[in-house]
Formats: sequence, C-alpha cells, structure tokens
Amino acid sequence: MPKIFICSWHEYVNYFFKGIHDIPEDEVVVVRDPDYFDRLGDILGDTDPKVINDYVMWRTIKFTLTYLNKEAALIKQRFRKVARGQNTDKPQWKKCAEMVGFGTWRKQGINLAAGSLYIKSKFSREAKASMERMVEFVKRAFREVVDKLDWMDEATKERAYTKLDAMREVIAYPDEILDAEKMNAYHAELIEGMSKEGVEECGLLCKRLEINKWYTRTVYDKLRKPVVVGDWRDVSVALANAFYMPNENRMEFPAGFLRGAMFNYNLPPYLNYAGIGGVIGHEISHGFDDQGRQYDEKGKEKDTQGSITDELNLIC
Ligand SMILES: [Zn+2]
Repeated sequence: MPKIFICSWHEYVNYFFKGIHDIPEDEVVVVRDPDYFDRLGDILGDTDPKVINDYVMWRTIKFTLTYLNKEAALIKQRFRKVARGQNTDKPQWKKCAEMVGFGTWRKQGINLAAGSLYIKSKFSREAKASMERMVEFVKRAFREVVDKLDWMDEATKERAYTKLDAMREVIAYPDEILDAEKMNAYHAELIEGMSKEGVEECGLLCKRLEINKWYTRTVYDKLRKPVVVGDWRDVSVALANAFYMPNENRMEFPAGFLRGAMFNYNLPPYLNYAGIGGVIGHEISHGFDDQGRQYDEKGKEKDTQGSITDELNLIC
C-alpha cells in the first residue's frame, strides 16, 4: 500500500480495526473514490498543520455539541448560520426522534430497539399480512405483463420469472424485533456498556458514545463472516421510504412508510393499491432496470451478453 499522507494505508486501516481484526499488508481494500484520497493528500500536504489540527478538534467538538446543553446547541446553530446560511434549527422532538433512528437512513445503533417500540404500538400483524398479500398480487400482475410482451423471447421471459420468483421482501419489520430474547442477545454488549458506572450520571453524550462504540464494533465484527442475505439486524423499520437491493434481490417496505396516504389497513384494498400498490410495482421493476439487470436471481453480478432484449437495455 502506498504512503498517502501522514501514515501508510496499512497503518491507517489497522488503526480503525484495532482490537477487532488484524488487516494484513496484502488485504484488498475497496476505495470507492480514489481521486478523493489523491487530492486529500495534496491538500493535507499544502495545509498548515495547525489548521488541520484545529479542523480535527472542531469536528470532534461539533459532534458532541448535539448531546450537550442548550448553550452548546446554540454554538452549533451559530456555526451553521455562518458556514451555510441556515438560520433555523430542527425542532427538538425531531432531533430526538432522529437520534434514536426514526426517519433516518443512518443506522446509528438503536434503530431496531426504537423500531420494536414503534411496531408494538403502531403496527399490527394483520396489517403486515395484508401487505404481504398485496405484494404477492402485484408480483402476479407483473408476471402477467411479462407474459403478454410480444417483443421478448421465451428464454428471456423464463429468466424474468426465475428472478421474480426468487425476489424476497421484508414487509414492515423483521419478526425478530418482537422476540425479546433475540433482541437482548443482539444488544447484550450495549446493555452492559450502558450499565457501567458513571454512564447514567454523565448523561446523553456518554450514552451516545456507548452506542457508537458498541455499534462500530458490531459492524466491524462482520468482516470475515459470511454475508447473511436479508439479515434482520440490517433492516430499516421506522423509515419513510421503500427500496430494492439488487445484490440481494430483495425489497424492503419499512413500517414507517406504510402509513398516511400510502397504506392504511382499515381502508378498502383498492385505496391501498392506489397508494402503496404503485410503489410495490415500482420496486419490483428495479430488479429489471439498467442496474437490477446486472444481477441474477441470487443477487450475484452476472454476464448479460447473449440476450436479444439485452440490446434494448431492458432486461432482468
Ligand atoms: Zn425507485
């Protein structure tokens, strides 16, 4: 690994995995944007070390400001006004909700615990079963649409059916989050960390740091372990969005999205088809669009040459 700025890549990566994994010199590391690191090296080389030091300190302090008192929050707000021209701050309730993982893409650690509480008070098993039926029916309708296409050859249609049949979905929430034993086992180290002496008295910041430590360790610990497709611990629950993951051939419809105009178990099905039904069809089609087509029914990247419809850039 080449030296880029202050240390070698090897030292840099190992610093993050300290105590969890030892990364050997010849490990392949995926860098999504190599240009960024190239340019970062230039900037760091041309910048006064004192400025770099101040920046790193500020980033650390800025993170803590969210979890301290009102005066600290005001410092952050004043900074945001100068740096980005933003004058208003989010209401407190919203900040608190996001802090525990509601309505955010960021998996910050206790999303599942918060999601579990949300489900217990806001989402019934009947509603989940009703969504499962809708997904099944929309899949069937999709199959009929493919069947009627006169421009698609039979072999390609068969491949589309194979992929459609293998497509899985997580609807509303994974059942495991209602299983106290599984939830406690997953959070065991966090529960232990939270009950350490001084954490309670120290307040929100210390609790956040305990969550971060536990969550980082949990994520880093996955390295070298086999990938679990559809792992319940990675599923979003209280998020207002739906998505398709091509590398798992799997759709997710979090409970946070199955509300309002999208879905209401107490309304007649035709209204729900007009709402979430369209989204189900949309997510299914992602399995067959320009991105989804590059993966097979198991989510493995595939060679798409050789299909007549390949030229039309349209296939599964
Ligand atoms: Zn989409």
